Amino acid sequence: MKVHQYFTGSQLRNFTYIIEGSQGHLFIVDPWDGDESLAYAQKLGGLIKGVINTHEHWDHTRGNEVIVKKTSCVVYAHPRGKGKIKEANVFPEEGERIAVDNETYLQVMDTPGHTFAHLCLLLVHREKPYGVFTGDTLFNAGVGNCHNGGDPETLFQTIEEKFLTLAEDVRVYPGHEYLGNNLGFTLKNEPSNAAAKSWLEDYKKIDWHKAPVTTTMAQEKEINTFLRLDSQELRDHLPGKPQERKEVFLTLRELRNNW
Ligand SMILES: [Zn+2]
Repeated sequence: MKVHQYFTGSQLRNFTYIIEGSQGHLFIVDPWDGDESLAYAQKLGGLIKGVINTHEHWDHTRGNEVIVKKTSCVVYAHPRGKGKIKEANVFPEEGERIAVDNETYLQVMDTPGHTFAHLCLLLVHREKPYGVFTGDTLFNAGVGNCHNGGDPETLFQTIEEKFLTLAEDVRVYPGHEYLGNNLGFTLKNEPSNAAAKSWLEDYKKIDWHKAPVTTTMAQEKEINTFLRLDSQELRDHLPGKPQERKEVFLTLRELRNNW
């Protein structure tokens, strides 16, 4: 099994992913550009088994049409994506598995918050969680907004229950590249965060087209302000000095809207 992370260079800094099974089956997650995704898949030489959309927003589905036209593959989406995503025809529920190869599968996570039709995918290899495709729910050093069909309290619940419970070494594969901007936000609210400072230094050297960088859940817990709700420095920096996890999260989400 191999994960190909592909930076699209779109104005929204989207990532598209291709998951390659050891028997040559390919799954394309959130295709920004259908032709580019197909070209990438062709280079790998496998058979495209499916497209998976993490949610209904156009920038995560716009490549569907071209890929379906050329391959007739299935398109997976959240059950609430029915009618919202034209090409979607398979709607897996929480806990359902999509086989990638003999020893690898994607386990569907129901993750409302950014929208209510949002799923994430836990990549499990040899019975061990390897990585998680997070769409617009969890980003490197941040979380998704709730402007277009979402709800901040629901997002808080999802992050607490579905992501903070993941193993520390699980790799995070988000839908967009917002790392640098998000690190700035973390440091604004927690200026002495040494890990965030060091990541921000390294960020400048990253070539996203050639060698995209991934974080693990352990690293996210160091640099992602939305996962650091117990930090006293953070709490004291926020307006109104909220001292309860949910209030800290909601205050941060509100502030991030104007960052
Ligand atoms: Zn979105």
